[in-house]
Amino acid sequence: NLPVVAVVGRPNVGKSTLVNRILGRREAVVEDRPGVTRDRVFYEAEWTGTDFWLVDTGGWEDRVQGIAYRVAEQAEVAVSLADVVMFIVDANVGITSTDEQLLKVLRKAKVPIVLVANKVDDQRGELEAAALWNLGLGEPYAVSALHGRGSGDLLDAVVAAM
Ligand code: GDP
Ligand code: MG
Repeated sequence: NLPVVAVVGRPNVGKSTLVNRILGRREAVVEDRPGVTRDRVFYEAEWTGTDFWLVDTGGWEDRVQGIAYRVAEQAEVAVSLADVVMFIVDANVGITSTDEQLLKVLRKAKVPIVLVANKVDDQRGELEAAALWNLGLGEPYAVSALHGRGSGDLLDAVVAAM
């Protein structure tokens, strides 16, 4: 019944940190070690009076086997259920080949994509984030999931895309 917003990206880009930021509490498991979120986890969230399901997913990777493959599959299930996808990339790293492969999967799903350039902890990161306009996904929302920078504008865009 509520709109579903899936948070997807390769391992370690800050998906769970962003989920916690949006929830305003520490529920999603954050780890320095990649690949901790294995399943898709639904959380009830709210922004400016709009309620929605926020889905944290495990890190998506291609060319992997075993558990990592099943984690990626679960992330794709979350995308198939989603009304909006938040595609999280690490602005400090830029676009990797894994990001590019995931973007192909997202485009096939024909779901609105909101591009999130995470780990923009200060003004200096804005330039790296702006380079992501090249992906053709519209505005890259520069955020710091860790410090909260930019999360309000991002959530406004997510609600508008529902
Ligand atoms: P996930 O694998 O995508 O869910 O990533 P996590 O949320 O577990 O975060 C992975 C690592 O990146 C952790 O060490 C986080 O503290 C760190 N991290 C997440 N968001 C930010 C951010 O905005 N800025 C910085 N500097 N680090 C971040
Ligand atoms: Mg995680």
